[in-house]
Amino acid sequence: MLIRGGRLVDPALGIDALRDVRMTDVIVEIGEHLEPAPGEKIFDVKEAVVAPGFVDMHVHLRDPGDPQKETFETGGAAALHGGFTAVACMPNTRPALDDPAILDDLLRRVETSAVGLPHIYPIAAITRNRAGKELCDYPSLARSGAVAFSDDGAAVADGSVLQAAAHAALGVSGPFISHCENAALKSLSAALSECSVVARDLRVARATGKAWHFAHISTRMGVELLRFARRSGTTVTAEVTPHHLLCTQDEARSLGTAAAVNPPLADTQDARALRDAVRDGVIDVFASDHAPHTEAEKRGPDPPPGFSGLELALGAYAAALPDLPLLRFVEMLSWAPARILGIPGGTLRRGSAADITVFRDEPWRVDARALVSKGKVTPFDGWTLPRRAIATIVHGRLLYDARAASPT
Ligand SMILES: [Zn+2]
Repeated sequence: MLIRGGRLVDPALGIDALRDVRMTDVIVEIGEHLEPAPGEKIFDVKEAVVAPGFVDMHVHLRDPGDPQKETFETGGAAALHGGFTAVACMPNTRPALDDPAILDDLLRRVETSAVGLPHIYPIAAITRNRAGKELCDYPSLARSGAVAFSDDGAAVADGSVLQAAAHAALGVSGPFISHCENAALKSLSAALSECSVVARDLRVARATGKAWHFAHISTRMGVELLRFARRSGTTVTAEVTPHHLLCTQDEARSLGTAAAVNPPLADTQDARALRDAVRDGVIDVFASDHAPHTEAEKRGPDPPPGFSGLELALGAYAAALPDLPLLRFVEMLSWAPARILGIPGGTLRRGSAADITVFRDEPWRVDARALVSKGKVTPFDGWTLPRRAIATIVHGRLLYDARAASPT
């Protein structure tokens, strides 16, 4: 197939220009005005951007254990609609992703699925059942496909357990990912709760030398700690979510349980500090923290934290940072997460897999009822967002095509 007429944005190649892309299941050729070969399929993408496939490194697929919330198939479909060719799924499932046999089973079901899917990379737990006590077997989990390790949903409460875990995982590729909330401090202050874990985990990262990534940074103080760490030579990476970039306690108040999330929405100064941290490079990656629940659960008396994100993330990032250069925007969604996780992709260099996201600046209205995810709750319901995916190609297969989808 020949993708013709688009603006190719590839940060690893340093290209932001009109280019055509020829592909099979891999990228064959990039050039100006490529002539179609006899019988070659042509995909015209004038006025659209052609980018390396987007990677969402923080997704909850709820598989195994909670098919009423999501499965790898419904979450995979949501990812494709959102323009993601790869997702990394968090281990707070039932059972938790803490054992190679559980990863093997998940990936076997993914591989034998009849539906087209994005690449799905599991993140394994740091401690057994994410209980914060017993270490997992990191080399075995990595052999079964784990690309990172996290007890996401909670911090590992005991710093000495975390340090022992980081030591045990030193020879294993794949970073540790911190969920930064200190349960004992949360009622006092969300910023303090976040920062106490960020500070501790920066220290453990530095002491052990383990590769480290910070999930969903949400406060100004959290950003400042990361900035300080970088200045003193600690190489860690960090991500930010669409809702922390754009929503604040005002939304939390007006939306109630629909906006309940961990870490909680902060204030306008925090949101501004997060946007600045993206602009100046303290934050490396956009990640949705797609966390679907059933509507009954979200509207019930004890709403679980989190909501859908995959299908609106791309638009929300653009709404938060309309001034961000496209090369950097694309880097934060492709090259950066792929390098952090050590997975293929992130560039359309010749010979690499044909994982491609095509998107366009075009206002569209979020209708939570119309999401393909089983999670139909999002604080962005009814918002108009400025950017959307129009095609998602995985290994050369056009798995999402907005021209074929019903208009919204
Ligand atoms: Zn988390």
